[in-house]
Amino acid sequence: MNYQSTRDHAENPSYFNIDAALNLGLAQDGGLYVPSLLPKLDMAQIDPDAGLPIVADTALAPFFVGSSLAAALPEICAAAFDLPMPEVCLGDPANGVSVLEQFHGPTAAFKDFAARFLAGCMRRLRVGQPMATVLVATSGDTGGAVASAFHRLTGFRVVILYPEGRVSARQAHQLCAFGDNILTYKVDGSFDDCQAMVKAAFSDVDLRASMPLLSANSISLGRLLPQMAYMVFAAARHQNTHGKPINLIVPSGNLGHGVGAVLARAIGAPIAEIVLAANANTVLSGYFDSGEYQPHASLATLANAMDVGAPSNFERLRWLYPNGKPPGMQAHSVSDAEIQSEISDTFTRTGYVLCPHTACAARVLKRLRIGGDTRHYVLAGTAHPAKFETVVEPLIGRPIEVPEGLAQLLRQTPQVKPLAANPTALKALLRKLAS
Ligand SMILES: *Cc1c(COP(=O)(O)O)cnc(C)c1O
Repeated sequence: MNYQSTRDHAENPSYFNIDAALNLGLAQDGGLYVPSLLPKLDMAQIDPDAGLPIVADTALAPFFVGSSLAAALPEICAAAFDLPMPEVCLGDPANGVSVLEQFHGPTAAFKDFAARFLAGCMRRLRVGQPMATVLVATSGDTGGAVASAFHRLTGFRVVILYPEGRVSARQAHQLCAFGDNILTYKVDGSFDDCQAMVKAAFSDVDLRASMPLLSANSISLGRLLPQMAYMVFAAARHQNTHGKPINLIVPSGNLGHGVGAVLARAIGAPIAEIVLAANANTVLSGYFDSGEYQPHASLATLANAMDVGAPSNFERLRWLYPNGKPPGMQAHSVSDAEIQSEISDTFTRTGYVLCPHTACAARVLKRLRIGGDTRHYVLAGTAHPAKFETVVEPLIGRPIEVPEGLAQLLRQTPQVKPLAANPTALKALLRKLAS
């Protein structure tokens, strides 16, 4: 299986195998790695009753042909995907709504699946190599998932940057809960600042020559491919249970999750409609409405893990569909006020507690219903509401029970240092670590 950069439009593009793509993270021309040709899944070989790890292995195997990881793929999948991911009915079954709960991992967000898969790949790829530094800018959830997946893994340290005061209190605590090989920094700035600092470090040739730097942001194929794999499973299981392809509403920020669904559909998983649900950041809905891609500075919202004004995976979407917006796909933007009313309304009607991100998906469904769309929809449930208790609890008027994994992290003493919001400060810090 060959991979290439989204920016390489040559007749004979440079090809990479997945091992190289995983090691490099971002392509040298600044593009993102994509498979040069998409394999076709034989859905007859996919048996959801065999469980998520087995299905993920079957779906991913063609993407690892020729990789040094091919033989270990079943083991990597067994470890990464060994988490419950139920599809639960939301309210009256006659309404045709369910939630794909993807938040039963150690940090209570869907990113646990992909972070664990990435760690499984990287630890095998880097056997016998010098200590690698995983550099992560996080708007809230990525940092925790990556920290949990790489915690105490020999040969790795993780440097997390998060915007101080712009993640929820429990997210912050979780980001700082690990210690050991996890170094967490609160940056006096926005998520965009954190991301710019990380990008500057990655493009500093001297720095990179002095220490191996790895990305764990959703530009890495090691995060994108597992998100495709669980969508294949979700679609196959839904097809078996309901006899119909799944329609998905995916809370979206950097678009890794959404592109995972698009890839799953493109290789043949039974997925009909894919709807992206964004918060008040309108870059995706703007593109789907007007055909113009106009990135903007990110806006802070109640669904903070999606506060993105320039989605890093957009380039992959455009590479897959160069002639404009993909068929069977739409994007909507949801305001903070709508998030709040959706959380309280859904709780009143059904007793189900949504996190602010999943609430965006629920609100978008309401809009589709008003527009006359009566199909069954599955909302991707991206985080456990207990991570956003200060937003959710006042709206539902009662405390949310904290899942055990999260509770365990919240019992740890936070360990965090401040970092100035400029690339020089981060580079100085990294040089010190390298020496
Ligand atoms: C990261 C995240 C999202 C957005 O996922 P993308 O892949 O960035 O589009 C949505 N909800 C939650 C809870 C997240 O952590």
